[in-house]
Amino acid sequence: MGVIIQKFGGTSVKNTERILEVAKKIVESKKMGNSIVAVLSAQGGYTDILLEKAHKISKTPKKRELDVLLSTGEQISIALLAMAIEELGESAVSFTATQLGIKTCSNHNCAQILDIDSKKIKQALEEGNVVVVAGFQGVDLHGNITTLGRGGSDTTAVALGVTLGAKEVEIYTDVDGIYSADPRVVKNAKKINRIAYSEMIEMAGNGAKVLHSRSVELACKYNIKIHLRSSYSWTKGSIIKGEDKMEKEVIRGITHSKNLSKITLRDTPHRLADVISTLSNEGYNIDIITHDFDPERGATISCILKQEILEKAFEILREKYPKNRKNLVHIPNLGKVSVIGIGVKSKGVAAQVFKVLSENNISIEMVSSSDINISCIIHQKDLEKAVSLLHERLIEEAK
Ligand code: ADP
Ligand code: ASP
Ligand code: MG
Repeated sequence: MGVIIQKFGGTSVKNTERILEVAKKIVESKKMGNSIVAVLSAQGGYTDILLEKAHKISKTPKKRELDVLLSTGEQISIALLAMAIEELGESAVSFTATQLGIKTCSNHNCAQILDIDSKKIKQALEEGNVVVVAGFQGVDLHGNITTLGRGGSDTTAVALGVTLGAKEVEIYTDVDGIYSADPRVVKNAKKINRIAYSEMIEMAGNGAKVLHSRSVELACKYNIKIHLRSSYSWTKGSIIKGEDKMEKEVIRGITHSKNLSKITLRDTPHRLADVISTLSNEGYNIDIITHDFDPERGATISCILKQEILEKAFEILREKYPKNRKNLVHIPNLGKVSVIGIGVKSKGVAAQVFKVLSENNISIEMVSSSDINISCIIHQKDLEKAVSLLHERLIEEAK
């Protein structure tokens, strides 16, 4: 049998009891004759605790030092799991990314995997061990510890799948599949048995944090299936794979993301390229950008950013464009609701989305759309209501 990659998220290893359950699951798979590489996240909530500790010391900790700190969470879980597997009578060996050689670029806090040295893993597997790998972390070419961005252990798992030639990567979590909306928000959300990479990339990139979007991009590039399933049972979960040619055009899901804000620069003589590069040179990711040009008044440029960088980004623009100060405004506490699926390009879907929101007095701050996504920026207080209403109209009533 080939190698199976099994990734367990923070909720799946949150305490001793859960670690023992995960160990049992792995040993069961191993006893069926499989070679197992387990990838682990930090115990649930632990990465947040580490971040809080850092921010008690400094408001702007160096990204390099944050990575040294944040990577410790995964180191704890791999050691504990390896011990638990040994207790069950199987041999196991744990590795951090530095020990294994999971090489990344030097972009601290959001590094990309460049290469994984498979020698150590293969040798440990040949010796009969379960190999337990720390997710989320890497090492750059100068030996510095890096991390891949929040939720990044999924990406470690898929990257290991690519390196070891696995056909499928199993991602175990606290839900039994991908749902048509976050099941914590929409109680009638439906489980999706199979979903195309393109739709899952769009869902994950627009707030469905059940998978790290880069893990799905990687799986798509190397044509590896992802089986997302529950760590609490053996029920079949959701399969993420290439498109089905016969698939009918459907709305797959409604996703949402919180803690966004909008900055608008009105009637400005400055060019879009200058304004946006002022922000991106600071390393800020911009979600949606709109640009309206009026030959007499100049341009109106709006962009959506994460709330946590709003103050800093606003200050940077005020300093850069002092003459435009009165035309620079911001709106905090926004969220994004997105309708995702091949079916969004069907006639009338966009109109229905706007109708549902307007009938319920939910005002829209900004809209963006593509072939498989219509996203509306709305006030955060309306977000969960908007998700439920759109789910009801476009998914439940569409049956
Ligand atoms: P893990 O700790 O296993 O990595 P995450 O917390 O990252 O788990 O992801 C699982 C959570 O993702 C679920 O508890 C669920 O609330 C949330 N989620 C958001 N959108 C969806 C969706 N469309 N389908 C399933 N789960 C979703
Ligand atoms: N521990 C990291 C986080 O909380 C990585 C992960 O869970 O995938 O974001
Ligand atoms: Mg996760």
